[in-house]
Amino acid sequence: MLKIENLSVHYGGIHALQGISLEVPAGKIVTLIGANGAGKSTTLNTIIGLVKSSSGSVIFEGKNILGQPTKNLVEQGLVLVPEGRRIFPNLTVQENLTLGAYARTDDEQVEKDRERVFTLFPRLKERIRQKAGTLSGGEQQMLAVGRALMSNPKVLMMDEPSLGLAPIIVGMIFDIIKEINSTGVTVLLVEQNAKAALEAADLAYVLETGRITLSGSGRELLADDRVRKAYLGEA
Ligand code: ATP
Repeated sequence: MLKIENLSVHYGGIHALQGISLEVPAGKIVTLIGANGAGKSTTLNTIIGLVKSSSGSVIFEGKNILGQPTKNLVEQGLVLVPEGRRIFPNLTVQENLTLGAYARTDDEQVEKDRERVFTLFPRLKERIRQKAGTLSGGEQQMLAVGRALMSNPKVLMMDEPSLGLAPIIVGMIFDIIKEINSTGVTVLLVEQNAKAALEAADLAYVLETGRITLSGSGRELLADDRVRKAYLGEA
């Protein structure tokens, strides 16, 4: 579905991605784990057209999409829930969700997707007229995911959805990610919370200072000694 080949990114003199390759098969949950500064956000931001690459390709449904404007990619079914959520705090829940569907003209389906978001996140329905900035951190993350779903994505990319959330809320967010995936949406997730991400993932990659150093099923990496020591806090 999505294939990244030999992708390199420079920020001035910093070689942030040093030729990474990874595959996101249709219908799967794929995770990219790694420490702070490893290049996880850069990977997602490059795929979605917010950061310019120096070389490599990103193949989506058979075509190289690198260099296409973000708006076109969203219309084709690729969407990013950015780090830190980036919801509009002064707009209501309803208005934030509507913005997620800005490029769509299939109004009836948009309404169905809005209902689907409210089924997944009943809390958002209860707070529909509330300003987004007054929601709790977990609710804001739900809204960011809900807004992304309003674009009816084929691939949902998420940058650290668990950041700053209480453990119980992290569990809820991961349950919802699995539920969204079970409806046929492919997921690419980057996380510093390696345990939760690996438990949810069909396929996982470890990114270290701009290079992929390990890959395997989520279960394989959970059992890997190197991963346990470096990312799961085990001796
Ligand atoms: P984090 O969890 O902190 O977001 P990350 O794994 O997502 O970490 P990136 O944010 O992709 O890492 O950063 C990769 C490297 O690129 C780091 O060395 C970072 O300092 C650098 N970098 C990221 N964005 C920029 C930028 N806009 N300009 C210059 N350097 C940057």
